[in-house]
Amino acid sequence: MIEPPALSRSAANRASLRRTDASWLAGAWPSALVLVLHQDMTTDIGGAADAPMLALVRGSQVADGGDRFFLGEDEGGVYFAAVGGAATTRGEVTAGLREAGALLADRDAGLLVTAVALAHWHSTHTHCPRCGAPTTVSGGGWLRVCRVDGSEHYPRVDPAVIMLVHDGADRCLLGRQASWPAGRFSTLAGFVEPGESVESAVAREVAEEAGVAVTDVRYEASQPWPFPSSLMLGFTARAEPATEPVLLDGELEEARWFTRAELAAKAGPRWPPPVSIANRLITSWVERASNAAVSSSKRGVR
Ligand SMILES: [Zn+2]
Repeated sequence: MIEPPALSRSAANRASLRRTDASWLAGAWPSALVLVLHQDMTTDIGGAADAPMLALVRGSQVADGGDRFFLGEDEGGVYFAAVGGAATTRGEVTAGLREAGALLADRDAGLLVTAVALAHWHSTHTHCPRCGAPTTVSGGGWLRVCRVDGSEHYPRVDPAVIMLVHDGADRCLLGRQASWPAGRFSTLAGFVEPGESVESAVAREVAEEAGVAVTDVRYEASQPWPFPSSLMLGFTARAEPATEPVLLDGELEEARWFTRAELAAKAGPRWPPPVSIANRLITSWVERASNAAVSSSKRGVR
């Protein structure tokens, strides 16, 4: 297993049993620590540039209006997010998950990723999928209820697979999309389709994007990626045989094999940002090999 990806970290207890206790939620609000989320999915930031912290405010200081989501509690307090409405006066420094997600401490990373994921879902699920009537936020922000037929709708996540394809030795297959910064390569990825297992999705996506067949699909780690609602399921997979990639579905501009030395070289490809699980998958694969090299050299000494 690899180290937890940046956005998989959390420290507060979600305390989900509190969500249905409306009187407890109302009583907890004034003294709660509130993450005010702006319309552009950024929030106010304090602390040093290299050690940012969420600038949380007390519920009693947040203007009325907008939605409130209960995020959880710990020994440090009770946490909510306030989204939209008059609550969103901007502070001096703001940042979103992409900028601050890897720099925030565990508690703050978990609070922000949850607030952003919920806010995205609410903003695109304002009406009932059964009858089209408006829905109302309930359950501490973890539910919407139809005003006409009473049907309940819970926040959804979309599973996506992301995989480091290797040749069982010293090469891995990375690709780049035309819209990315020059020189950046990353692991292949795609959404899981209805009726499909995640292992099948890994094999299908690699075949579609790069024309390469894989086996030995192994789960590594997951991380939420709420842009707007993905859950990235990270894998390694072995190409068999290690064929040259062919771009089939047009999703990639280029795909190629890299050795570990090429990946680590200064003139090598630009890696995906630290906040991404792709970065963690690549780092882990590179480090795993150097650990294996160390242990085999130790065996050699013995
Ligand atoms: Zn309805």
